[in-house]
Amino acid sequence: MDKIVYVDNAATTPCDPRVLKVMTQALSGACGNPSSHYSVGYEAKAIVDKGREQVAAAIHAAPEEIFFTGCGSEADNWAVKGTALKFARSGKKHLITSQFEHHAILHSMKALERLGFEVTYLKPTSEGFIRPEDVEAAIRPDTALVTIMMANNEIGTIQPIREIAAICKKHGVWCHTDAVQATGAIPVDVQELGVDMLSMSGHKFNGPKGIGALYCRKGIWPQNLIDGGSQEARHRAGTENVAGIAGIGEALALATATLGEKMAHEQALRDYVIDRILKNIPQARLNGSHENRLPGNVNISFPGLEGETILLDLDMHGICASTGSACNSDSLDPSHVLLSIGVPEEIGHGSMRFTFGPQNTQEEAEYLCDTLEEIIPRRRAMSCMWLADQGEARVFSLKGEN
Ligand code: PLP
Repeated sequence: MDKIVYVDNAATTPCDPRVLKVMTQALSGACGNPSSHYSVGYEAKAIVDKGREQVAAAIHAAPEEIFFTGCGSEADNWAVKGTALKFARSGKKHLITSQFEHHAILHSMKALERLGFEVTYLKPTSEGFIRPEDVEAAIRPDTALVTIMMANNEIGTIQPIREIAAICKKHGVWCHTDAVQATGAIPVDVQELGVDMLSMSGHKFNGPKGIGALYCRKGIWPQNLIDGGSQEARHRAGTENVAGIAGIGEALALATATLGEKMAHEQALRDYVIDRILKNIPQARLNGSHENRLPGNVNISFPGLEGETILLDLDMHGICASTGSACNSDSLDPSHVLLSIGVPEEIGHGSMRFTFGPQNTQEEAEYLCDTLEEIIPRRRAMSCMWLADQGEARVFSLKGEN
């Protein structure tokens, strides 16, 4: 194939040209500060207001329930640390999350543990789901927050957030969901879900990088993390990223308007790739349930190989994929997500994530499968790990006899 095949849409997505156009107009046109009281300030403010309305409409929230942040990680940090700090004053210092959250949540929890908070990390099932009954069993009188992601960024499993939020409501505990992978990929309706807070990130749905948002249900205010001016209703200071806000609003409006088609398209590519790999590559195994999975997510282990080897081979064929989360791509540690669902370490090392977006084609999915069917057997024929497993390992002595 004479072009790059980008199948790493869970890491980030290409910016839609229609989004780019709106952002370029915002950057080149409205030069004022949205807080200024003259015409060009009002123009910038109108752009911010429109972006807020678009994001709110897409998730069935009110515009005043949307707070823009610098990224999804900031929204997660704010929900977790802001809630913990707020409730610590009344002695509630216990939080509940899962073992397979994104590091924006897990590392926030670790930071809070160092400050004396207690955290329960729920274990997902081997299929990749958090059981609502486990959430309920973990709630204590001093629990301040439950935060469970809406869709896992590595294996794509979609969590029973509605049931979890109902349990939290019953016990008077705030409920946050990291919906960074879910927003723009599957329907997200905060009324239906019943969550108190929800995180989003523009670059996951063909919008710009460097802009995120936190939904906070009316009356729910985590303590501020960024103090300063009166932006975002005095809850998150800093002059607004006007073009970024225009971009996230437009991108989410576009993704939502075509969600049904987008999901069907991505799901067809996903299922084609899963079926073909499982049929044609011996011992390949799908990680996480096939049911209740993000439409564009494939995560497969190829026993006997290291994911990094496959990644480099794919890159030489012009294919951009991932061994797991992009935020952890410099680490050779096995994925905490795969370990949490019980994938053995050696099999976790040979795992690949392919994630599809609206721009991917059937031809690209076929090229990906053709390439994997060529490189996996070739690499396995050179892999001691694979040959030992097949009983074919030859032992080389130091004298050179074998
Ligand atoms: N949460 C999840 C589930 C993610 O997948 C990501 C990014 O990959 C984030 C949070 C962080 O989002 P951002 O890159 O906007 O900081």
